[in-house]
Amino acid sequence: IFHQDEYGKNELRAVWEFVVVGFVCTAIEAVYSQYLLTEFGLIIGIFIVFWTLYNPQTVVDSLTGVFAKGYLNQWIPEQMKRGQKFHVLQISIWKLKQVNKLYGNSVGDKLLIDVADELNQITEGNYIFRIHGNQFLIFSMSQADYEKTKQEVMELFQTPFDIGDEMIDFPATICGITDAEELVDNDMMLAYLEYLILLKPKSDKTTLIENSETTRQGFLYEQRVKKYMNTAIEDDLFEVYYQPLYSVKDGHYVTMEALSRLKHPTLGMIPPDIFINLAEKNGQIIELGKLQFRRICRFMKSHTALMKQIGSIKINLSPLELLKTGYSQELFKIINELELPYSWFQFEVTETVATEYSEELYKTISDFREVGIEICLDDFGSGYSSLGQLQQLMADVLKLDRSFVRRGMFGTRERIVISNVIHMAGELGMQVICEGVENAKQAEMLIELGCYYAQGFYYAKPMPKDAFEGLLEKGNVPHGEEIRNGAS
Ligand code: C2E
Ligand code: MG
Ligand code: MG
Repeated sequence: IFHQDEYGKNELRAVWEFVVVGFVCTAIEAVYSQYLLTEFGLIIGIFIVFWTLYNPQTVVDSLTGVFAKGYLNQWIPEQMKRGQKFHVLQISIWKLKQVNKLYGNSVGDKLLIDVADELNQITEGNYIFRIHGNQFLIFSMSQADYEKTKQEVMELFQTPFDIGDEMIDFPATICGITDAEELVDNDMMLAYLEYLILLKPKSDKTTLIENSETTRQGFLYEQRVKKYMNTAIEDDLFEVYYQPLYSVKDGHYVTMEALSRLKHPTLGMIPPDIFINLAEKNGQIIELGKLQFRRICRFMKSHTALMKQIGSIKINLSPLELLKTGYSQELFKIINELELPYSWFQFEVTETVATEYSEELYKTISDFREVGIEICLDDFGSGYSSLGQLQQLMADVLKLDRSFVRRGMFGTRERIVISNVIHMAGELGMQVICEGVENAKQAEMLIELGCYYAQGFYYAKPMPKDAFEGLLEKGNVPHGEEIRNGAS
């Protein structure tokens, strides 16, 4: 009781239960000496202590016998209270689903039991938890133990497992965090482990992803952005930058792309790839998308002369937005409230959309096309889409990913591929744009290949809405050199 700060909640509860039961029984015996309850109370008390501390359902994983996830929420705070340092390895096994499918669940279960047994053998004195069907955590209390465990776990998953009739590979991704206690609460630690896993693609080989200072900083940066996102959405702190696109044939800007920007008071400008990605993960993208959509609509409303000049604004939509039932109607409502023509909008969808067929998504896209909103397939060539899927999506515009120009695209084979893509897209009635054009050489090469629309720093950088206002005030509608020079 004097050292209660050092004990966890459960441990304290067990001690109190023991004291209370013991006291009550002793008191009864003191008054009614014919009831010999003290020893009985002692036994019950010990049983309660055992049950509270080692409640098998919450503490032990019934299949593998290692600690269960539920116990982690109790174990970590206990270590923190004791000021105990610890290091953790997370093992994620990828082939469990396939094994269950191919050989049956019993083989999958047996493999998990074998894994747990092997882990128990190599990690004496460490704490092993099974936190998901296919994930284990091993806590080591010293750096030396951690290093040793890491080596042996790597070796274990590099050797095939015996499933009776045959030996099978059972590859795993192993993520390691040293000084994990610094990631204070348990959710942060698990979130960091998830972050580490995503740093490398799933593979058929056992992979080790170790925590480094840079990755840790990257993760902590993301966590701060994540926190800030709530305020940013609540207080609508986003901005929209616009990047004009150039028509080489016409010699002027034809349209522009709206790009979201978010500034943090101390971190500065947060890259959209980071905050959009986070918003997509936690569903905030719907709210964010609508805030920005309204902002773009307001910009259009107050820049009608510019809109007549450039024709339309390209707006990025995330797959999640397209999947939301009735999303098209929500956007139409905003457009109609401000009485804007549909033709001023062109929606950009990423290539992943084209590869993941979904009724809802195609319905939303066809709703847009029906009212005359064009669809542009963004980042074409960055993933796995094919021209077949292109045709299915019925996009009006095809935007080649900037990796095309970044790679150089000056090899003969590459040129053949790109010029054919451009040609085929043209035959399918699509306009082809290339993004990421940064210099004259790239621009010339694209023209040679038959791509006459370009977006990139060479022509204009994304700029805040005030940059246009400034240009308009001077009577310069964005056109040619003015924008190139005015770009920031
Ligand atoms: P994206 O749609 O492919 O947009 C083009 C990106 O290329 C922009 O990056 C732009 O600044 C950048 N860029 C343009 N020209 C050049 C160039 O010459 N060189 C290089 N290196 N980059 C160039 P940004 O603004 O960082 O946006 C990144 C991505 O974030 C966008 O890629 C888009 O997928 C997403 N995004 C941005 N705003 C929104 C939004 O409001 N909603 C959604 N759903 N996604 C958005
Ligand atoms: Mg885009
Ligand atoms: Mg793009």
